[in-house]
Amino acid sequence: MAKFEKVDVVIVGAGASGSVYAAVLSKTGKKVVVLEQGPDWKLSDLISSDFWGRRIKHGGAPFVLEGRNPVSYGYQSGWGVGGAALHYFANFPRLLPNDFKVKSEAGRGLDWPIDYKDVAPYYDKVARDVGVSGDAKAEEIWRPAGAPYPMPPMKTFRNGDIWLKGFEAVGIRMAPAAVGMNSTAYKGRPACIYDGWCHVGCPTGALSNPLVTYLGDARAAGVEVRPWSTATRVLTNGNGTRVTGVEYYDQKKEKQFQPASVVVLAAWAAQNPRILLNSANGAHRKGLSNRSGLVGKYMTTHFASGTWAIFDEDVQNHMGTTGAQYMSYDRYGKTSHKGAFGSTFIVAGSALKTSDLGGFANARLDLFGAELHAFMKRAARGLTRINAFGEEMPNVENRVELAADKDEFGMPLGRIVHSYDEDVARVWNANFEEGLKIANAAGAKESWSGRGNIPTIHLMGGTIMGKGGGDSVVNSYGQSHELPNLFVAGPGIFPTSGASNPTYTIFALSLRGAERLAGKWKAIVG
Ligand SMILES: Cc1cc2nc3c(=O)[nH]c(=O)nc-3n(C[C@H](O)[C@H](O)[C@H](O)COP(=O)(O)OP(=O)(O)OC[C@H]3O[C@@H](n4cnc5c(N)ncnc54)[C@H](O)[C@@H]3O)c2cc1C
Ligand code: SF4
Repeated sequence: MAKFEKVDVVIVGAGASGSVYAAVLSKTGKKVVVLEQGPDWKLSDLISSDFWGRRIKHGGAPFVLEGRNPVSYGYQSGWGVGGAALHYFANFPRLLPNDFKVKSEAGRGLDWPIDYKDVAPYYDKVARDVGVSGDAKAEEIWRPAGAPYPMPPMKTFRNGDIWLKGFEAVGIRMAPAAVGMNSTAYKGRPACIYDGWCHVGCPTGALSNPLVTYLGDARAAGVEVRPWSTATRVLTNGNGTRVTGVEYYDQKKEKQFQPASVVVLAAWAAQNPRILLNSANGAHRKGLSNRSGLVGKYMTTHFASGTWAIFDEDVQNHMGTTGAQYMSYDRYGKTSHKGAFGSTFIVAGSALKTSDLGGFANARLDLFGAELHAFMKRAARGLTRINAFGEEMPNVENRVELAADKDEFGMPLGRIVHSYDEDVARVWNANFEEGLKIANAAGAKESWSGRGNIPTIHLMGGTIMGKGGGDSVVNSYGQSHELPNLFVAGPGIFPTSGASNPTYTIFALSLRGAERLAGKWKAIVG
């Protein structure tokens, strides 16, 4: 085992949330080490090909997946510097005020210990930091006013515009989508060229992945990123009052220990609880920060109802970005669909490639061989899709726990148990029904619902924030209720999921937590 000097902060995970902590703390002069289990990706590793793109989509040690609706990996996998945000679609909708008080306003789910107004200034700051394109004014029909986005909306293409007539017919207002992409050159990064390869990572830097935003800033400020370093446990002092650092395995599979004054777990919603549970010791028998027994509990995911359509014209479906061109919160009210509960967030207009996530080949899951071939030819010019993301209410039974099987480092695998409730099925179905109405009103020649199993997109929860140790794992800054120098970052701290894609909120909450940590450093570190 090498002998590493004690640093101020050790961060586990070089993805969306970890990169924010790394940037903020290093800029205040703190010595920061980031441990990342995967490789040190560079922009030049990002190749615009579905097949080459698969190299960057590994997810690390597998999870045992159980429950009626086992969680899938497609929209979750992050591995290597940049994390999942290296190849995300960068749709950047905010949560809305009604997401923060679901329990007190509707008697369902959980309340957040903070309000929209606590997060809103951080949304505005993140927009300036990473570069967001959109029309904030247009969004004011749904949310309180904030600062304008630093760039105007992205260009739209016929594959998005063609749906507008249909949305209007059913009374849904659309606004330019807020996306973490450059509609113009921004902070030394180029404008998007709309070739639609975001899902395998943008090699130009027009997409705001962590490499070109917070992690780039952190490295410039002197942060050490240690790739191929898989964290297995957070250690504490003898009486269990403070954490002392992180045990990990290096590329040679040798055990190492990085001592630090503060530990930030930013290894994503399912990995953070796995590490906390595996860190159980004499003083914390159920795992760290787990006196409430809530570590790993209240996992939520988003689901989506995709409506596909073929139009009788060339909709330029290879063009645009993998993110959306238009968005709407007109079905975001928790009871927007009669007899169902949960918000819906709607998007339209997305570049399509032939295979992989959301590609042509997956548009008709019932077709194979010659029939699929004929479909793909038919769809090549006129195929396009809209999507409606839905909210799942938190359920304590949806959880991450340790399994009996172990990974290559002898660490127990995580088991994710996940089942949807009836409300999810109702919202899912209602969005499909509405999607077909929209397609018909838009003049589609053929339209169908992208049904299969109810998908699980974006995992959240497992280390939820709350008012105290009895109802949650961390406070609203991500600080453990039990161990003041332990922080958890990422979607795991969301008590409820809303229906908006999570990463803009992940960045905003991480910025809020990291600035608080920097501001209260003396009080926290002693
Ligand atoms: C294809 C795809 C499309 C998406 N599109 C969108 C979108 O349009 N909008 C949106 O808001 N979100 C989107 N997301 C989701 C978004 O990428 C995630 O919400 C976000 O990246 C999560 O941030 P995080 O910091 O929690 O995790 P990540 O960004 O995944 O980072 C976690 C990091 O921790 C590392 N790690 C894990 N375990 C360990 C360990 N034991 N030791 C050391 N390191 C470890 C991982 O390798 C990873 O690099 C998409 C995701 C995918 C995969
Ligand atoms: S469409 Fe734009 S953001 Fe996406 S990969 Fe191409 S240049 Fe990058």
